Amino acid sequence: MKNIHCKVFGHDYKVTRHVTYHVKEYTCKNCRRELTTSGNGDLIELTPKFKEINDVLERIHYKRILRTNKHHSNVQVLNKSKLRIA
Ligand SMILES: [Zn+2]
Repeated sequence: MKNIHCKVFGHDYKVTRHVTYHVKEYTCKNCRRELTTSGNGDLIELTPKFKEINDVLERIHYKRILRTNKHHSNVQVLNKSKLRIA
């Protein structure tokens, strides 16, 4: 009965996935109960529905990071060529 530990000491959650900067998924290392961050920042049970939502969020977040990085490298290239002209 692994759950007895959780009943006595509370769940021992570890972050198992970073979905976005604000949304994470957690798993209790004793009973494998899963939680995620809801829209208003509360921790809620990770249901298959929320897993789906997190998959979408993660994809959007990842795309945004790629776009931001691309933007930064373009700026750097521009700065370099400007320096060369000067
Ligand atoms: Zn637990």
